[in-house]
Amino acid sequence: MRFTELAEAYERLEATSKRLEMRAILVELIRPLRPPDLAHALFLSQGMLRPEYEGVELGVADSLARRAVAAAAGVDESTVGKRTKASGDLGTTASELLVAVHRLGPEEPLTVADATRELTRIAEAKGPGSQEAKVQILVDLLVRATPLEAKFLVRFVLGTLRVGVREMTILDALAEAFADGSKDARAKVEAAFNLSSDLGLVAGVLVERGVEGLASIELEIGRPIRPMLAEREPDLSSVLARMDGRAALEVKYDGLRVQAHVPRRGPVRLFSRRLEEISAQFPELTAELPLAIRDTPAIIEGECVPVDLDTGEILPFQEVSRRRGRKHDLARVQEEVPVCLFAFEVLLAGGTPVYGRSFPERRALLEGLLKPTERVRLAVQEVVHDVPAATRFFEEAVAAGGEGVMAKSLKEGSAYRAGARGYWWIKYKREYTVGLSDSIDGVVVGGFHGRGRRAGRFGAYLLAVYDPARDRFETFCKVGTGFDDAALAEMPQRLAPFETPARPPSVESGLTPDQWMRPGLVLEVRGAELTVSPIHRAAIGAVRAEAGLALRFPRFTGRIRDDKGPTEATTSAELLRMYRSQVRQASPKDPPTGPASP
Ligand code: AMP
Repeated sequence: MRFTELAEAYERLEATSKRLEMRAILVELIRPLRPPDLAHALFLSQGMLRPEYEGVELGVADSLARRAVAAAAGVDESTVGKRTKASGDLGTTASELLVAVHRLGPEEPLTVADATRELTRIAEAKGPGSQEAKVQILVDLLVRATPLEAKFLVRFVLGTLRVGVREMTILDALAEAFADGSKDARAKVEAAFNLSSDLGLVAGVLVERGVEGLASIELEIGRPIRPMLAEREPDLSSVLARMDGRAALEVKYDGLRVQAHVPRRGPVRLFSRRLEEISAQFPELTAELPLAIRDTPAIIEGECVPVDLDTGEILPFQEVSRRRGRKHDLARVQEEVPVCLFAFEVLLAGGTPVYGRSFPERRALLEGLLKPTERVRLAVQEVVHDVPAATRFFEEAVAAGGEGVMAKSLKEGSAYRAGARGYWWIKYKREYTVGLSDSIDGVVVGGFHGRGRRAGRFGAYLLAVYDPARDRFETFCKVGTGFDDAALAEMPQRLAPFETPARPPSVESGLTPDQWMRPGLVLEVRGAELTVSPIHRAAIGAVRAEAGLALRFPRFTGRIRDDKGPTEATTSAELLRMYRSQVRQASPKDPPTGPASP
């Protein structure tokens, strides 16, 4: 397949924000494809070369890409810099500058396989001299590319290729292109993806063996399963009601979710909630896990929390976040901030996939599998049948340093639902007991220029929640407090890759910030209460026609949720539930679904 065909499809995809149209463009694009082109095209469209969990990074900074564009176009770097300042996008600059070069006559047309191979070489160039090597490969690629291809190649290497195709749309397209597009086919495609986290693999099996062949994709060591997620309820009696009056309550530890893959032989691998490999950050866990597991290969999940090994006390989560991304000094930090893994799930036990069994069965298996050590322990659990027992367990959990409880359904059919959020797991956090002070994970979609001490930087940010049904980010607040000097200095850097000249099509906002940003960075905020707002767009129309929900007095908690991607932020539906539960608490006689009467 020629790369041009892909680039043309990107042009069309960029021009629309309608999921149905996107799906149609994708279907048309992928239907004629077969492996390996199919996988290449799918990965490239998502700005990746391999499944996300493999963590392939190109390692091309803006300056390197600028240098490559200049060399390929035969102009100096300052020209590239100036033009990019005007257009706001190096990809556009590259396509404009390369028109002249391309006229000299391109060589052989670039294929999708060529592009993937060369981009992989860029990613693999490591060590001394690698920067030069990366530039050279990119120059060679750009010289061969048409202007349109160059635009997308440059965006790809910079990590700014966002044609707006989300995984869910790709799954839709796969089910339509290679099966009958029915609900059943779509569900099977998604299930295979949730289990393997590898779109290329799913697409390949689907093409070669059909929908039924997808059942051959099994959980495997080294290939993370997409995590099961929890719903929330405003109080413990609603939690129990959802679970037919009987639930296993566990301490909800406040740390980092870790999926540990422990093979029979060879290195243990740890994956974050976003399925990034984080093994190198927790050497004490990778060392101790094989001792704590009786029957390998195994895959377990748990929450990694900082602890005081002397007292066994759980420490605030902020301690553990200091370790994320730290490559140097690990030994020192490891001593300063020891962590412990509280295991709460088993997915593969002694080589047997067990995610399909009911929760009580899995918990029993986990208890048998685990031989607790100093750093690998079992999540504390109790089965409760009534609200007083649940309340007591909740209070104990909080006293022990948990942020609340996780209730788990004991019903038949309580299988591990990979990649799904549902009422089989319900979280109930400490904050619910004091009105609305539960935190919200909001996606930054814009910045407002600061004044006074903050002149020259952003003084506030526009945040949005996510609506998965419509694949939209809806604003709910503008937050400017809670940022200390370090955070203020760090934010622009963290947000630079997401800056974009116009409102991204997936963002819905009644406010226009000074700088738009593509949804990328997630911030944890708290506020006084949720109110109905004519300005904001979260859960629009749900409480009152044409009004959204807004957070009053928002404040950044200091926690950047690096472990969450934009689509894992708080959803509009969750925000609506928080609004309603707050109304319910304020005025118990109100119907649970209605706003407070005056
Ligand atoms: P939240 O991030 O607020 O949506 O809460 C869900 C998260 O709680 C999970 O992804 C886990 O990281 C974490 N967690 C802590 N303790 C438990 C537990 N006992 N069972 C399941 N998840 C837990």
